[in-house]
Amino acid sequence: MSVSLDRVRELDRHDPLAGFKRRFALPEGTLYLDGNSLGAQPTAAREAVAATLDQWRDELIGGWNQGWFDAPERLGNRLAPVIGARDGEVVVTDNITLNLFKLLGYILERRGDGDGGAVLSEGGNFPTDGYIAQGFCRLGGVEHRVLPEGAELADHLDGVAVVVLSQVNYRTGRLRDMAATTRRVHEAGAEVIWDLAHSAGALPVDLAGSGARYAVGCTYKYLNGGPGAPGFLYVHRDHQDGGWQPLSGWHGHAAPFAFDADYAPAGDITRFRTGTHSALAYSALEASLSMWGDVDMAALREKSLALSALFRDCLADLFEAHGIEDITPPAAERGSQVSLVDADNGYAIVQALISRGVIGDYREPGLMRFGFTPLYLSFEDVWRAAMHFREVVESGEYREPRFHVRGAVT
Ligand SMILES: *Cc1c(COP(=O)(O)O)cnc(C)c1O
Repeated sequence: MSVSLDRVRELDRHDPLAGFKRRFALPEGTLYLDGNSLGAQPTAAREAVAATLDQWRDELIGGWNQGWFDAPERLGNRLAPVIGARDGEVVVTDNITLNLFKLLGYILERRGDGDGGAVLSEGGNFPTDGYIAQGFCRLGGVEHRVLPEGAELADHLDGVAVVVLSQVNYRTGRLRDMAATTRRVHEAGAEVIWDLAHSAGALPVDLAGSGARYAVGCTYKYLNGGPGAPGFLYVHRDHQDGGWQPLSGWHGHAAPFAFDADYAPAGDITRFRTGTHSALAYSALEASLSMWGDVDMAALREKSLALSALFRDCLADLFEAHGIEDITPPAAERGSQVSLVDADNGYAIVQALISRGVIGDYREPGLMRFGFTPLYLSFEDVWRAAMHFREVVESGEYREPRFHVRGAVT
């Protein structure tokens, strides 16, 4: 290894975020580099969920008036500063998949220009974004187009009404310039929905400052809200002045408990709610969000880049020698992950690492992903993970047949 253990311990001693690791319950002996798929458990989550269980036991239906019903807006306001949004611009509800559908309908209805503008989704994006664009367009008789991976967006905006883009690509970890891209899309007369799945909680996001009007994201990745934690939806306050969203459920009604026969959307971000949510899931997320008020996002970004750089520095010679392609973008264009490609052995290398307690993940074809979460990973953790990686590859351990068996979830 080109970096010594003493050196990484020195980095940990000077890490301003080091104290956050104690606020997570991590299994002994696990080096967790998969916080980009499912974040680790904040220690406060257990007590928060237990308190909600007690509330259910003691207050029964009364719990809905004691913080459950308005949790989508309350948590939205808590999350807002983490993504550069303001009070009343974010609602925590449903998931990315449903929220994309709602926003597509809302935007097209709001444009009301009947110009038949197309929905443009991104080739190489996380599949659900493209699937929803397809399903929405099929239902609404709207044209669907795909931006070829790597193509220049500005060349593909003619006749487009809405484009769906990830701020950070889930495979490569490439970060788009949100402000410049938003400007370009607006100049072309179109709207953009930003997907923040791999940026919210991973780096400083400045929605309002970037001129972004619409965004969606999840809270179970870098925001550590728990498995199946609710997603979120952002609409800039100047763009909340009218229109339906197509999943016109009772929780998005202007007066849900009036039980009117006809739908009338709430006048604010609440219109993006649909139906009854899980109070238990919201309580785990609320416990996590309470931590984010203490996080210095500039320090988070600095540490995230330092961790991914350390991992690569420790292994650069190995990648070279073993034909592993490092497709991680340069720091200024990087999210919080390292992306490596080995079409023949990637799956088995990741399985061999998991058996040693080093948790990364694998995505077809050939992609090994390692996520770097500055709140609960130390420099020493990353150094040790790199050491395991080196041993697994140099010894040929990954060739063992047991590392080639495929499970249902990879
Ligand atoms: C993880 C992820 C999703 C997941 O969508 P859900 O509806 O929350 O399951 C969507 N888009 C991107 C870019 C993702 O990375």
